[in-house]
Amino acid sequence: MGKVIFATATDFLSLPVQTDLNLILKNTENKIFSELKKWLTAKLEKIALITHENPDGDAIGSCVGLGEVLKNIGHQVTIIVPNDYPAYLQWFSSKIEIIVYNRNKKRVKEILTESETLFCLDFNEPKRTQHLEKRVLEFPGKKVLIDHHPHPTQFCDIMISEPEYSSTAELVFDVVKKSGLSEYINRNAAEALFTGIMTDTGSFSHNTSRTNMFKVVAKLMEWGIDTEKIHQAVYHNFSTQRMKLLGYSLSRKMKVFPEFRSAVIWLSQQELEEFNFQPGDAEGFVNYPLSINNIVFSALFMEKKDHTKASFRSKGNFPANLFSKEHFSGGGHMNAAGGETKLPLDEAVEMFTQLLGEYKHQLLETII
Ligand code: 5GP
Ligand code: MN
Repeated sequence: MGKVIFATATDFLSLPVQTDLNLILKNTENKIFSELKKWLTAKLEKIALITHENPDGDAIGSCVGLGEVLKNIGHQVTIIVPNDYPAYLQWFSSKIEIIVYNRNKKRVKEILTESETLFCLDFNEPKRTQHLEKRVLEFPGKKVLIDHHPHPTQFCDIMISEPEYSSTAELVFDVVKKSGLSEYINRNAAEALFTGIMTDTGSFSHNTSRTNMFKVVAKLMEWGIDTEKIHQAVYHNFSTQRMKLLGYSLSRKMKVFPEFRSAVIWLSQQELEEFNFQPGDAEGFVNYPLSINNIVFSALFMEKKDHTKASFRSKGNFPANLFSKEHFSGGGHMNAAGGETKLPLDEAVEMFTQLLGEYKHQLLETII
């Protein structure tokens, strides 16, 4: 038997503890925060916040959280999302208007023409805003990016890109703090930022290795948010049809490849319609195969009107984002990525299956 080594209390105590915001926001120069404060307090403006297509909890939470702060400073704030967002994100106490581009193109165009500043939250390249890409690129005012996805393209005047952060919401909190604007955080902002952190960490189950995330959460709780209620609003709010679609997906549409430590789930438009699919209904499906013993890579393919949407999740050092970038014009984080292909659903699944063979070595070598 190998030698068993027990860590002593002093070993744990000697682990580096991050206390300094300068250390945490390591890609962002200090002068950016003073510049940001100057911009945001010199005069009151019309400000728009925008996030990525198929907005998730971090996308909406970050926009609402920062939006509340800007509103409390006195700015006129509007949030823009490219397409519909799920019902489980439609309960926020904040009254800031969220305009869906697909439903109200004219109004979004007006907002983008009238606004003096645009915040781009939770995405790293303009094409993530779908049909709004050109308008984001051509926005005539000041643009600020706050995001945690790796490898951003340079498309904003101020780029705050910190990939070590669990979520954009956690980052927004530190940016507000570092810019000396914490006094403008209120309960509505705290509730939204907590939601962003909670959803992007899968209820504090991944991206949780840094102490800062827990510190931010503890701080947010000082505004008296009801964390259990927020959890229920997000995770205990599904329709019966969604639960049945999940059951169907796992029992009938999941294929496991133990020889490649991988699994795939695929759903056609017809199947989605049978279960009265609503935006957000498939959120989290792609995570389930990862709870199977020894599976390190999971994919979900969904048939859309003119393309096939892909979601990837991985464990350990298998780079789901590079896989997605290479084969599905996508990207994201190391362990959570997405993309799409023009291939029909069955061909996309076939291609994925073939690719597993090519990645066999890397998959078998993945350290979790
Ligand atoms: P999801 O699978 O939940 O749609 O996305 C997981 C992660 O991948 C998120 O961080 C998301 O921003 C990113 N992602 C999803 N779809 C795309 C895509 O089409 N392109 C890029 N670059 N990233 C994506
Ligand atoms: Mn995020």
